[in-house]
Amino acid sequence: MARFTSLHRRALIRGSASAGLLGLGGCVAVSAPAAPGSSIAQGAAPGGRPLPHPPIWPLRASMDRVFDITVCLRPFRAQGPRIEAETIGDALVVHNYGHGGSGWSLSWGSGTVALRKAMVGSPKEIAVVGCGALGLTSAILAQEAGAKVTIYAKDLLPDARSARATGSWTPDSRIALTSAAAPAFADLWEEMARISFKRYRRYLGLPGTPVEWRDHYTLIDDQPPAGPRAPNPQRLEFASYGDLLADIAPGDEELPPGATPFPVRRVVRSSQLQFNVTDYAHTLMADFLAGGGRVERREFRELSELAALPQKVVINCPGYGARALCRDESVTPVRGQIAWLIPQPEVDYGVYYRRVSMLSRRDGIVVQALWGGDVMGYGDDHEVIDRTEAKTAVDALASLFGRMQG
Ligand SMILES: Cc1cc2nc3c(=O)[nH]c(=O)nc-3n(C[C@H](O)[C@H](O)[C@H](O)COP(=O)(O)OP(=O)(O)OC[C@H]3O[C@@H](n4cnc5c(N)ncnc54)[C@H](O)[C@@H]3O)c2cc1C
Repeated sequence: MARFTSLHRRALIRGSASAGLLGLGGCVAVSAPAAPGSSIAQGAAPGGRPLPHPPIWPLRASMDRVFDITVCLRPFRAQGPRIEAETIGDALVVHNYGHGGSGWSLSWGSGTVALRKAMVGSPKEIAVVGCGALGLTSAILAQEAGAKVTIYAKDLLPDARSARATGSWTPDSRIALTSAAAPAFADLWEEMARISFKRYRRYLGLPGTPVEWRDHYTLIDDQPPAGPRAPNPQRLEFASYGDLLADIAPGDEELPPGATPFPVRRVVRSSQLQFNVTDYAHTLMADFLAGGGRVERREFRELSELAALPQKVVINCPGYGARALCRDESVTPVRGQIAWLIPQPEVDYGVYYRRVSMLSRRDGIVVQALWGGDVMGYGDDHEVIDRTEAKTAVDALASLFGRMQG
């Protein structure tokens, strides 16, 4: 089986390695999946011959199985997240926002960097603004460092925007622009990604499966993207750092024709770390409260209000809310939408096909349109459902799995 580097796979996914690569390989045989309980479903063909691949159960993709459509804004900054200290009145405020499409993935590392700045004077009490991915992880890290922590937030998870994320390990997804990120940011990014990756191990194998590894298939044929590509008049190039983690990222492999029932010409398999956000967020909140943390619902209108808090060290994690709270116009919205299909526990994998992404989580099957590439949704702050986008994505998967069934 051909091995792929992460760089190679990124090129495939972004479409930049189009004709030449896509022209390789033969047609994949289409075979119907076996019924549950049959010998094929248990991993052996009728003659006892081992199957080359575990059974792949089809997704039931149809709009009548969509139980929710959610929209969210990625808090993107061209130069990368803002993790820096500022003195406001007599308070030390450490900002920790602007993580684009990588907030969950980088949260533990970013929180660690922010906490270092917050602990300079060894404060006994710390306030955290925000209860999304960044706020909650920063708060837990501050507790672990020995501080008494209070979270102040307008919305708590699951109402905070972080709850509407895909839930995959994507540490350099829309994290910065190549043209705007300082050269030193690559080192900082690597440190944050490695810390986070290691920390996620603690959540593997827990009841509720907050974090797990799953197979993921990139499916390639001659079909165009399922929807229109987004124009890129500003020629935005998003920074890519994945190769810095080559030693810890699992490789990709191209499967031989006929190894899977997917009706496409080429299939590339990888392993993906994913967050089942409902359970993961619940686990984090429970850990924070069990550690003696306090939560207060509160909305701040001005940064100066942070100086009036009883805690004199504040870690500020307002996500996209930083645009208004910190008057920081470098925070750019990047809209993203998810159509949620009813969970199918037997579908224990994800796919990427015609620029539609499907991730099977315990709390729902995430279907996402990515046909405009990374620039899709850039500068768009409309947190409004686009049903046509959802239907086009679900229909693309329906056609794929319809052909797979027969
Ligand atoms: C469709 C989509 C898919 C994504 N998929 C992934 C993925 O698979 N993996 C990944 O790593 N990342 C993903 N992301 C990115 C990730 O969701 C974000 O980077 C992350 O949620 C940002 O977290 P946050 O804590 O900074 O912000 P938020 O979750 O928005 O939290 C901000 C908190 O601050 C509070 N707040 C804001 N302003 C104020 C104020 N003025 N006063 C008081 N409280 C305030 C809010 O109420 C909230 O509690 C995705 C994003 C989108 C849109």
